Amino acid sequence: VPELPEVETVRARLEPILVGRRLDQVEILDSRLTRPHDPGLVAARLLGGRVGAVERRGKYVIVRFESGCVLLIHLRMTGSLLRVHAGEELSVAHARAVVILDNGSAVVYRDVRRFGTWLLLEPDEVGPYLDARLGHEPLERRFGPRVLERSLAARRAPLKAALLDQRVVAGLGNIYADEALWRARLHPLRPAHGLDAAERAALTRGIRSALRTGLARQGATLRDYRTPDGATGSMQSEFRVYGRAGEPCPRCRAPIEKTRVGGRGTWYCPACQPLAAAQAGLAASARSS
Ligand SMILES: [Zn+2]
Repeated sequence: VPELPEVETVRARLEPILVGRRLDQVEILDSRLTRPHDPGLVAARLLGGRVGAVERRGKYVIVRFESGCVLLIHLRMTGSLLRVHAGEELSVAHARAVVILDNGSAVVYRDVRRFGTWLLLEPDEVGPYLDARLGHEPLERRFGPRVLERSLAARRAPLKAALLDQRVVAGLGNIYADEALWRARLHPLRPAHGLDAAERAALTRGIRSALRTGLARQGATLRDYRTPDGATGSMQSEFRVYGRAGEPCPRCRAPIEKTRVGGRGTWYCPACQPLAAAQAGLAASARSS
């Protein structure tokens, strides 16, 4: 499932393919992609538009047209965008939309599970739409312990569940939340409002470190994630805890455990991510003795 590092990798690869190009043909093959809007009408409105910029916010790819209109693409579970060079075979399995550019190359949107969405917005609709759904970008300077203090203050939910809320940290998902909590030595079931200042600082560093590692590895390839040039990421070989139940913690060698938080599989080290503060104290004294 693409999270911030995967979506940012897709954005960076898509940018040189799309910017400055005009959409000469647009075919939307699956009405689920644009619902509740009619796919034919969306295709007609995209036709002839010239791309001014390709940006990202949270897990959205933002395609800005020179007209001011914006196409918001959310890949959800299994969406991906593939570039097809002029003259190459255009038929791609699970294709849901095909865009042919004015240089003859094409971009095909494929999606096995069909949860992805394309939403075409007017210029004045984009900001309010995203602001209502997304909190701070975790890699921007404005994000930090103070932002976390405000956004977690009223939340009694488990910390992991709070981190998956896109209004708390934009772009974080199941993988990078687990990796960030391990880096911060915080148990995923800690009450979100119960962190102290040092723990919020550790969480900020953990989130950024996990995401930057993911970006450096071009994302994690599990199932269908591909960059527009068909490449895969290699973050999956860097996971410290995600998907590693029973394997030794890279920090303390205790076996990684798996639980469920808010219905999501969750991996953590029971020794260096203790649930209670008392346990943390015990663990610290055990380490120092
Ligand atoms: Zn450990």
